[in-house]
Amino acid sequence: MKAAVFYEHGSSEKLQIVDIDIPEYGENEILIEVKVFALNRLDIWVRNGSPYLKLQLPHIGGSDFAGIVNKVGKNVKSVKIGDKVVINAGLSCGNCIKCMKEQESECINFSMIGEHSWGGAAEYAVVPEKNVVKIPDDFEIKEAAAAALTTMTAYRMMRKSNIERGDLVLVIGASGGVGVMSVQLAKYFGATVIALTSSENKAKRLIEIGADYTVNYSNNENWSREVYELSKKLDRKGIDIVFDSVGEQVFEQAIKSLSTGGRYVTCGATTGNTGKINIALLFWKQLYIMGSTMASDNEFREAMKLVFDKKVHAIIDSEYMIDDISKAHNKLENKNHFGKILLKV
Ligand SMILES: [Zn+2]
Repeated sequence: MKAAVFYEHGSSEKLQIVDIDIPEYGENEILIEVKVFALNRLDIWVRNGSPYLKLQLPHIGGSDFAGIVNKVGKNVKSVKIGDKVVINAGLSCGNCIKCMKEQESECINFSMIGEHSWGGAAEYAVVPEKNVVKIPDDFEIKEAAAAALTTMTAYRMMRKSNIERGDLVLVIGASGGVGVMSVQLAKYFGATVIALTSSENKAKRLIEIGADYTVNYSNNENWSREVYELSKKLDRKGIDIVFDSVGEQVFEQAIKSLSTGGRYVTCGATTGNTGKINIALLFWKQLYIMGSTMASDNEFREAMKLVFDKKVHAIIDSEYMIDDISKAHNKLENKNHFGKILLKV
């Protein structure tokens, strides 16, 4: 099969299109003929390598994909050959206390397809049966692939935050993959949404997808002041929930922007991992700080139902053929995209 492989970590030039054996599948697994995969920051992180990541090379990335069931293991019941499916990249053991409580993304043995095992940047990929959901016949495969990882991630963040109708929400990194889904989901749950972004062009598009207000943080170190002033115009004193995937660059201001009882929920730190916090502010304002990763199996299914019911939409920035995967990686790294970058196999 054709696959985008890297034999050593490094820049996008390390990605090579090669012919490699189709992977073996087990009795509880499915062999998927991949049609489309979507890029995430994770793909860049895995390709670059990290002291925290021990990979056997060569490696095939790709944690976000959809395609057609090509073969099924003998115990597989929920899908059949020819079905259109989209995957949840979170691999859980099914046996630990967290899995028993249906909190699979907190599994003590948690790992990711495309990170710890071979992913979907190839003509075929193997996934466990419990990691796929069927795509309705009238729903496009590429729309499902573009939505899966970001929607489930944003959906779990919403659930953890206990978002309610009337909440005032700030989405940071709003034009990224999780950001555009967070804006749409927060609106779906009845919140008023402020999107924090870096350009007027992106601000315009964020209003189009449902954001009520935008704040531009470029050249504005004290942007939390502007957010606070905006909240006052709405008869509030700060933000109820901040959804962030940017991290270090915004953390201090993000915490400052919270109202009493406010919640900060993060699923990523694209600008760095270190954050400073004023502890007095933390207890005096009774703040909550929460981390979130991927989603439980149930949350994945609930999130995909919202996608299939067209309550939220993936935003597709661009589409490449798998042969141009290096170009697609460069585009993601240069951050001049809005929504998802897709690769067709
Ligand atoms: Zn487990």
